[in-house]
Amino acid sequence: MIPFLDMKAVYAELKPDLDAAYFRVMESGWFVLGKEVEAFEAEYAAFCGTSHCVGLGNGLEALELVLRAWDLGAGDEVIVPSNTYVATWLAVTAVGAKVVAVEPTPGGPNIDPDRIAAAITPRTRAIMPVHLYGEPADMEAIMTLAGRHGLKVIEDVAQAQGARVRGRRAGALGDAGAHSFFPSKNIGAIGDGGAVTTDDAKLAERLRVLRNYGSRVKYVNIERGYNSRLDELQAAFLRAKLPRLDAWNERRRAIAARYTDRLAGIPGLGLPRAPQWAEPVWHLYVVRTGKRAELVKALDKAGIGTLIHYPIPPHLQQAYADLGWPAGTFPLAETLAETVLSLPMGPHMKPEEVDEVAAVIRATLS
Ligand SMILES: *Cc1c(COP(=O)(O)O)cnc(C)c1O
Repeated sequence: MIPFLDMKAVYAELKPDLDAAYFRVMESGWFVLGKEVEAFEAEYAAFCGTSHCVGLGNGLEALELVLRAWDLGAGDEVIVPSNTYVATWLAVTAVGAKVVAVEPTPGGPNIDPDRIAAAITPRTRAIMPVHLYGEPADMEAIMTLAGRHGLKVIEDVAQAQGARVRGRRAGALGDAGAHSFFPSKNIGAIGDGGAVTTDDAKLAERLRVLRNYGSRVKYVNIERGYNSRLDELQAAFLRAKLPRLDAWNERRRAIAARYTDRLAGIPGLGLPRAPQWAEPVWHLYVVRTGKRAELVKALDKAGIGTLIHYPIPPHLQQAYADLGWPAGTFPLAETLAETVLSLPMGPHMKPEEVDEVAAVIRATLS
């Protein structure tokens, strides 16, 4: 049996540190917005290479609150990938702005800068690239476009904590980076959590107000805010995990390299290929095949877990039926949704397990 992701292995590796974090918070008697969150914010900002980090309730709210802090709303357009998790779109529509979906590069998975250029209108205010599967989007091209048109850029870093573009971390490449600490992400909490990283002191300050009911001073509400705070307990757990993140990402890299080696030359199987300038962190290892159903069945029979990220693109979800984008509107995203398959991946996967997965795939498709 090879699970898609072994969630228990992290506790086995870090039990003393995670237990110590738990006892520290329990004994402190202080659970919301305290020393742990403050310390994690400083440590995570240092890790990403930004001057500020603001701990929030989850990744979706990290995206949404940045758009709120930039005062985006009705009449504003935000460029997002057609090929992404629905949260990217939900953040834009939550503030009342208009989603302008842009297709990925032909090989995928990330948004195509050339197509972004064609989608910019006088109403465009921001671009929200996603570093899907842990592979950085083409941030140099995106920042150049944004600079030329006076647009803000918010990175969706939910799947790419620790990834780099020419040595600089994801989350430090745009005007703001929105992070998720959902348990299965490359660094995950023991529940929900999120954060925004930025060099913009004003944005960070506004987010601190927005996350806490729109108040800077207790019971004085200067604007209509949210309740979206990273818990002390989650911050303490994340502090225990952060020192391991680079090493865990390194292990993911080794697993990915082994997959790429063992899966080479299988007819009809597309393998992920990150651009030269990108240092991906392999949140997922995603292959493409026209025989997906057959392959999933064979892997399942062999006790190997797989998932599909994602089976239905946002524009075809019932939630966005009102946008009136029928099948065929975003053919590249639709083809990916029909052909992608995520193989088991994680820092605790064993090399022999990669070989086993690859052997089943080769036997099925050859
Ligand atoms: C997980 C994820 C989110 C949302 O994060 P939550 O913490 O679950 O709200 C947003 N965007 C992408 C690409 C994600 O993978």
